[in-house]
Amino acid sequence: MSELIELGLKESAELIRNRDISAVELTEACLERIDAHNESINAFITVASDKAMEMAKASDERVKEGRARLLEGVPLGIKDMFCTKDVLTTAASHILDNFVPPYESTVTANLWKQGAVLLGKTNLDEFAMGSSNETSYFGTSRNPWDTTRTPGGSSGGSAAAVADFMCPGSLGTDTGGSIRQPAAFSGIVGMKPTYGRCSRWGIVAFASSLDQAGPFARSVEDVALLFRGMSGHDPLDSTSADRPIENYDAGLDDLNIKGLRIGLPKEYFTDGIDPQVKAHIDVAIKNFEAQGAELVEISLPHTKYAVPTYYIVAPAEAASNLSRYDGMRFGLRIDGENLADTYTKTRSAGFGREVKRRIMTGNYTLSSGYYDAYYLKAQKVRQLIRQDFVDVFDKVDVILTPTTPTAAFKIGDRIDDPVTMYLNDIFTVATNLAGLPGISVPAGTIEEDGKTLPVGVQFIGKAFDEQRLLQVARAHEKMANFQMRNAA
Ligand code: GLN
Repeated sequence: MSELIELGLKESAELIRNRDISAVELTEACLERIDAHNESINAFITVASDKAMEMAKASDERVKEGRARLLEGVPLGIKDMFCTKDVLTTAASHILDNFVPPYESTVTANLWKQGAVLLGKTNLDEFAMGSSNETSYFGTSRNPWDTTRTPGGSSGGSAAAVADFMCPGSLGTDTGGSIRQPAAFSGIVGMKPTYGRCSRWGIVAFASSLDQAGPFARSVEDVALLFRGMSGHDPLDSTSADRPIENYDAGLDDLNIKGLRIGLPKEYFTDGIDPQVKAHIDVAIKNFEAQGAELVEISLPHTKYAVPTYYIVAPAEAASNLSRYDGMRFGLRIDGENLADTYTKTRSAGFGREVKRRIMTGNYTLSSGYYDAYYLKAQKVRQLIRQDFVDVFDKVDVILTPTTPTAAFKIGDRIDDPVTMYLNDIFTVATNLAGLPGISVPAGTIEEDGKTLPVGVQFIGKAFDEQRLLQVARAHEKMANFQMRNAA
């Protein structure tokens, strides 16, 4: 069994297609692993065993008939933000803990069309608001490298599931770092595509101008393959880009590093970075240099405003998006004496502390008298942040930064201090504000309190340049030779 669960995504699909293993055996192995480990890791909110077995059997049938598809038989964990038809979808919130969607999100539908298998729905911070998975109504997910630590957030369950070999790949959403940060904390690869690359239709909305779906896996090649299967234009999402999808997993090794211009933004190499993290980033930079890449010091001068700008824009959009949870159409309802009282009781009981904080700050910054000073100002600063990237991408092909200032922190350490928690997003939020693609790839491990913990390096690319971004990530991966924890 341990051999099966250690297989990568691409490898699994190939073995299934060649009938060396069956989709049913692989799915069973994953389900057994979840059964044995989920109590301690808490990566899955819902395990869809019956559905998974049914989908795996259908995969094996297709293989027999010679109709195998791109992701045939590959079992995936899906962040519980994606609506899955007839399968509970909670957004890790009490207000949605009885919600069974009557429809499927476009991104997951794309994956099922390619033959992938739904294993279950993974844990996250409530409505994807958080950086540690601790705001989940279903309890925090834990980091398989050290279960006293967070796997990151908000897509913590998706990252922990892949890092703990419960599945070869999973989906997350990234509004301000929620794919890249958990990937870094969990020692795996996670990519946030360009805004518009993947459809948002059927994903529980957090901050619509920032939200983007993306893949997690244990290698760049697997992330590339999953990305290819999930992305594409969707008329149901008006912000979805009508651009061709490339064969991202092919040609990953074709990059000529010689002459590749890598930007190192001076604002991202500050004193706040843990020296052990910094050491790994320095090695990554030196590796590229040794292969002939050109390292260019660049400046993204508005970086210091990224976290405050994000924490105005994202809550403002969230406050609007979350107004739909009123107890009337779906989810929790607590009846009150009249309509207003029902709203109040439902929302008071249904949302957790962090979500309430976002709704309150969001409504505050949108209210008349404060709108110009906060929301409008933030939109203007967002434009400056975006322009910073436009300017530097004239000079460089890709940007390299740490993904996070530290390795995974301890569960409980930051949850009572929202500002410290928000500051953890310092290297990831600007990418979302600018709508650019970013990827986190393991850079190495450090030792802390006698535990080995992974560290990630982030690459940021030009809009819709995922092909090159993945090639750069792959080049780094080969040079870094990161040691994944073993499944045993
Ligand atoms: N940590 C950020 C927040 O709490 C980002 C979350 C996300 O990307 N979904 O908003």
